Amino acid sequence: MRVTCFLCERVEEIDDNSLLAKRIRHRPLTPYLCPACHDRIAQKTLARRRQSQGGSKSTPRGQERS
Ligand SMILES: [Zn+2]
Repeated sequence: MRVTCFLCERVEEIDDNSLLAKRIRHRPLTPYLCPACHDRIAQKTLARRRQSQGGSKSTPRGQERS
């Protein structure tokens, strides 16, 4: 079946018998991500997680007491 990536709107062909195809057929509003966008989002999520970890460590806690 044909699916459209909801980020870049590229049309991809996926296996009719795949789990994803079944899910989309049952719920047509299920967002589909092409592999490229999926990778991009995964990398962004990883980068954000790394940033938030570094940020929480750099905030000084001792200042709240004074
Ligand atoms: Zn895409």
